[in-house]
Order: sequence, then structure tokens, then C-alpha cells
Amino acid sequence: MDTIEKLKILSEDSQYDLACACGTGKDDHRKRGTEGKWLYPVALPQGGYSILLKTLLSNACKNDCKYCPLRSDTDVRRCTLQPEETANIFMEYLRKKKVFGLFLSSGVIGTPDNTMDRINSVARILRYKNGFKGYIHLKIIPGASDAAIEDSFSLASAVSLNIETPGKERFGLLSGKKDYMNDIIRPMKFMAGLRKQGGRAEKVKCTTQFIVGASDETDSEIIGYMSGIYNKLKFNRVYFSAYQKGLGHPTIPGEKMPLSKPENIFAREHRLYQVDFLMRRYGFRTGDIILNSNGNLSLDKDPKQLWAESHPEFYPVRINKADREALLRVPGIGPETVSRILKARREQRISCLEYLGIRGKRLEKIQGYATCD
Ligand code: SF4
Repeated sequence: MDTIEKLKILSEDSQYDLACACGTGKDDHRKRGTEGKWLYPVALPQGGYSILLKTLLSNACKNDCKYCPLRSDTDVRRCTLQPEETANIFMEYLRKKKVFGLFLSSGVIGTPDNTMDRINSVARILRYKNGFKGYIHLKIIPGASDAAIEDSFSLASAVSLNIETPGKERFGLLSGKKDYMNDIIRPMKFMAGLRKQGGRAEKVKCTTQFIVGASDETDSEIIGYMSGIYNKLKFNRVYFSAYQKGLGHPTIPGEKMPLSKPENIFAREHRLYQVDFLMRRYGFRTGDIILNSNGNLSLDKDPKQLWAESHPEFYPVRINKADREALLRVPGIGPETVSRILKARREQRISCLEYLGIRGKRLEKIQGYATCD
């Protein structure tokens, strides 16, 4: 196979890994570039989009993760890109100004450290042979040694290790070879510790991803783990990838759950992203997230609206007096609007929300929970 043919296969196989900001917005869900499917538009933290070359190095994996179509017992066309070959094709796209960065993951070839060595080699060639100073996101392979992780930190702009499920019992239903505590939690803690030491490592962004609905986990468990990942490990982002029925082994819970109807599983993924936003940007704590008796989020209503409806004593919020945290509890008001309110308030009293350019349905929604009086 030539490089392009391998890229076609390996980029297709990397589509379920969202831990690089590919396709997490409302309108860009799993969207890929038009030219080659390995070129992905990604949302930049400062707004706007850029393009990543996103691929696996290999889909020849020795592991048996039952949610994964690449597990060792499936009949897929296997291939591997060599580090030099990957670096060359990336540089070709870079020279043509078609990409700004690289996202590199891989199935496990031999051992976790052997795979890490190949992944790190691509980054090393780009950094030291080609002088590339831009964005490189490297996957940390479950079970990687401390030394291999340190090596990645010395080369990458961002790294990710997918936690997959909340807790070893749930994970046990999905993999017979990977050890949850040793292969996933231990390296995640090591990554957090490296960043604490400061220096270059402190600047390397850390992300992770849950595969939602493959096991029989509840939203409550995911939210509990997510809180720990943000508050204790200080990771930058948690992503969610809805498990899609038919990809994994027929025995796993995700193949049997009624939720596996595509619209429901994507609605669940969307609700978890909303909770993630509420916790990262709106000051919500785990106790503020309203769950049903099964420990799951409502698929019908967004979690902020639900909180507002369950706390009538909190409203109406006074637009001219309330602090940032209280303003953020008003349905229809987000962090940007709060900043505009606080700025406008410094100059004069706000007599009506239309003054801030808020109109229509959104205005009606806000007026149900806030007042300018
Ligand atoms: S390690 Fe598991 S999830 Fe990753 S490619 Fe291999 S089988 Fe798939």
C-alpha cells in the first residue's frame, strides 16, 4: 500500500477519537475536511478554526477492547505508517498550507512503549529534523511507562489518554487485557504530576475521553469522574464519544441498551457536554446537576434549565445587582453575556435587556428568571 492508501484506512479508523477538539461543537460534529478525510477542522481555544492532520500510525492492535472495531479479533484491513513516512506526508501538507498541526494516535503494536516510541519518533522528526514548532497532539497509549510519557511531554503541545469508562468494574466489561488502574489511572496521575513540576510540561494540554454507553455506566458516575479529572488531575478538557451500536462485540452492554438508538445516544453525549460546560465555565458543582432516579441526565431538558426549574427560590436574579455566579444561573445567559452585563453596569444602570442587544425568544426566556428592576 502507498502512503495515501494507508492514510485513507488509518484516518477513517481515527474518527471516533474526539480528544483533540475535532467535532465537539454543535455544528461541527465529527466533521471532516473536504479534501482528504484525514484533514480535520478543529475549534481553536481563542475562537475560529484550523486544520489538523489526524490519523492513527497503525490499526494493527494486539488489544481486545470490545467496543473497538480494531480489536485484535476483527477482520479489518491492517496497515502501519512508518514514522518517517508520516512526518514526510505531514510536511508536504504543511508546505502547501493545508494543515496547521498533527493529531497522532495508534493501535498497540507489540507493547505500549514500542507504540509510544513510534508516535514520539514522528514528533521528534518534525521538531528536530524539520524544525516544526506548531501544534502536535500525541496519544498516550494505555500502559505506557513514565519515561515514554515524559518523552511525549517533551515534544507535544497536547497529549491525551482516554479513560473510556468510570471505574474498573465498568471497564472490566469492555476489556480483558487492559488493566484500568495500572494502564489508565496510573499514567493519568503521572501526567498530572508532570505538569505540576512546571517547566515545559506545565504548558502541555492534557485531555481525555469517555466512550459513552459502551458499558453500563450511569451519567452520575461519568460526572463524578469528570469532576475528579478537572479538580484533582487538572486536565484541560474531557470529551465524550457516543458508542455506536454495531461497532463492538455483541456481548457488551452498549449493544443491548435501549438507549443505543442513534438519536438517544447522541442526545446523551450532548447533555454530557452541557454538564461539562456548566462545570468548567458556569461554576456548577456535581451536586448542582440534576439526575433521574437511575442516575442519568434528562434527555429532554438541558441541565441548566432543570436546575433553574428546581430552584424557584433563587429567582428572579437582579441584573443590576447580582454577582457573576448568580447571573450565570439565568437560563439564556452565558459567560459572554455576563461579561457584557458587568461591563455595562460599570457605566450605568441597565434599564432593559434589549439595551444589550438581547431580543426575541431568548429575551423571553431570560425575563422568566431575571429582572432589571
Ligand atoms: S487499544 Fe483498544 S481501543 Fe485502542 S485500537 Fe486497540 S483495541 Fe482499539
